[in-house]
Amino acid sequence: MPNQHPLELSVARLRAQVKMPYLVHQVMALVPVARPGLATLCVDRHWRLYYDPVFLVKRTPDDAAFIVLHEALHCYLNHCQRLPESHNSPAGLELGNVAKDLAVNSMLVLSRLAAPEDAVLPSKYGFRDGLSCEEYYDLLLRKKQQEEHAQNHAEGDQDQGEDQEEHEQ
Ligand SMILES: [Zn+2]
Repeated sequence: MPNQHPLELSVARLRAQVKMPYLVHQVMALVPVARPGLATLCVDRHWRLYYDPVFLVKRTPDDAAFIVLHEALHCYLNHCQRLPESHNSPAGLELGNVAKDLAVNSMLVLSRLAAPEDAVLPSKYGFRDGLSCEEYYDLLLRKKQQEEHAQNHAEGDQDQGEDQEEHEQ
């Protein structure tokens, strides 16, 4: 049976192996599954790599290789099974996904790979590199709570200001 996957995917996987030779087994273990319209790449717990052919063509070969390594690391680090507490709500799930992306991208950047411009990186959140997804999840939760607290305070101050105005009238 001919290989029905696009050349860009083969190039990305080969380039990924050159960039991180010690991840050859993980990259080769990924089972590609075309998902037109997905607009990204992602994996499941069975090491299936879902990809949108259009998305792949739009990325540079280096970015595509980085993304393939990103997905391979999600599988290698067993991310599908981790942070089960984040699965309780859509907001938690979103935070959990960011935490996992931070952990993976941090590892790749620490390995001296250039991240795509739109990559989710710890530095963009004011976090340090090299933490686990659980540690990033805790940091993200704390950051979110601090932002909500600050917003409540700001709204409280505004209410007080409005109350004062009413008293003055
Ligand atoms: Zn990811």
